[in-house]
Amino acid sequence: MIEVNEDYCKGCNLCIMFCPRKALEESEKLNKKGVHPPIEIEDRCVGCRLCELICPDFAITVTVEDKKDDLSTKKKTKVACNEV
Ligand code: SF4
Ligand code: SF4
Repeated sequence: MIEVNEDYCKGCNLCIMFCPRKALEESEKLNKKGVHPPIEIEDRCVGCRLCELICPDFAITVTVEDKKDDLSTKKKTKVACNEV
């Protein structure tokens, strides 16, 4: 998930140009600097964090979903099957 601090953005579009998944596009709205900050296109981001690293103005924060709980649930299920 991408969070954009819209007023930090200067509209350089580096994040949009370099996203390997084409997961960002210019939003319709203008920020305080008079530019269109990026927004995320649904279901494309893989959480690689390139946009967060590349943004010269630290306007992007990427949150990666923690899959640990899912894995531990699957593991528990597997153990339960072996016991039957
Ligand atoms: S790289 Fe940063 S400053 Fe440039 S458009 Fe993206 S969010 Fe805005
Ligand atoms: S985290 Fe990676 S895939 Fe997601 S929007 Fe940023 S550059 Fe694109």
